[in-house]
Formats: sequence, C-alpha cells, structure tokens
Amino acid sequence: MTIGVLALQGSVAEHIKLIKSVNKKIDAVPVKTIDELAAVDGLIIPGGESTTLRILLDEFKLYTPIRTRVEAGMPVWGTCAGLILLANRIEGERSYFGLLDIDVKRNAYGRQIDSFVTEGDFAGMYVGMVFIRAPFITRVGPNVEVLAEHDGRAVAVKQDNILATVFHPELIARDNRIHKYFINMVEESLK
Ligand code: GLN
Repeated sequence: MTIGVLALQGSVAEHIKLIKSVNKKIDAVPVKTIDELAAVDGLIIPGGESTTLRILLDEFKLYTPIRTRVEAGMPVWGTCAGLILLANRIEGERSYFGLLDIDVKRNAYGRQIDSFVTEGDFAGMYVGMVFIRAPFITRVGPNVEVLAEHDGRAVAVKQDNILATVFHPELIARDNRIHKYFINMVEESLK
C-alpha cells in the first residue's frame, strides 16, 4: 500500500513519519506530480495556507487528477487547510474541490496567537487536537458523519472516502491512531 502526502506546502514530513510508524511496510511518499499521484492508494492534503495551496495545486496541474481520483473512490484526508479545500462552501470565497458536504469559515478560531491544544474524543479514541488558525465547520451535510467535536462544533468528519479534520493530528508525534484510522480506510478501499 502506498499513501501519498501532497507536498506543495505544509506539514508533509510529520504525516509521512506517522504513516510509517503505523506499519513499516506501508510506503508513505510526497506527491507533487501527476505521476506521483497515480502511484498512491490514498492521499493526505496537509494543513498550511489554503489560498497558497489552491494556487500551487493549479500550477502543478493537480486539480483535475486529484478530483478524478477522489470521485473514483480513492481515500483522501484533509487536515485544516486540506479540509477547507475539500469543503463544498467556504464563507466569502469560491470553493475549491467542493467534494465534502460541509460549509467552513476560515480562521474562525482566531489568529496564529490564538492557536491551542486540547483533547477530545475522535471515533471512540481520546486524542490530542492541535488547532492552528483553524476553520469552523459551520454546516454538516446529511451524509457526513461527525467523528469529533469541540465546544459543540464538528472538528472531524467523514463522508464515504473523504476524511477531514480541522486540527492537526500529525503534530502529536507520539500518537498515530488517526493515521491508523485513515490507513484502515485505504485498506478497505483496496478490498
Ligand atoms: N488558516 C489556514 C487557512 O485558512 C489554515 C491553517 C492550517 O492549515 N493550519 O487556509
């Protein structure tokens, strides 16, 4: 199994490390090109800055290839900016992939200085959650499952082959359980 991490911007190395820590036999590789994308069974779109990522995704001609793969069932996991790019609606701007039936409001948890770490339940597991200029999920569509909440608001969701978290599991270096959760989704998709 090969899992790709979109490597245009954001925390790429951290995701790769945690995927490998789940199982050494799984290949975890950076993805920057159409050919690299074609070789993966699942893709992580990391956090960073969604405005920058959308420009780079266009420049690297990855919009259509990623969209086509996700529509064909390839598991994808967006963290923070990655979640924003997957969302159906982004308050005040055009959506990007628009594949995940949620609405988001960018930077709603405040500025960089308001970043925080908390803990909470994610699909029955008690995990650390790092919020860095994270968006609010302001609407969750009927076919979207809420996996985690913070202050009564959804912060992790799943819709079929799409997983999305507003927080950053890759920054809790000692905990690979959400990465394992995503690997299970990829395993299921290959059956
Ligand atoms: N604030 C960023 C955005 O709106 C997301 C931040 C992050 O990915 N940690 O795109």
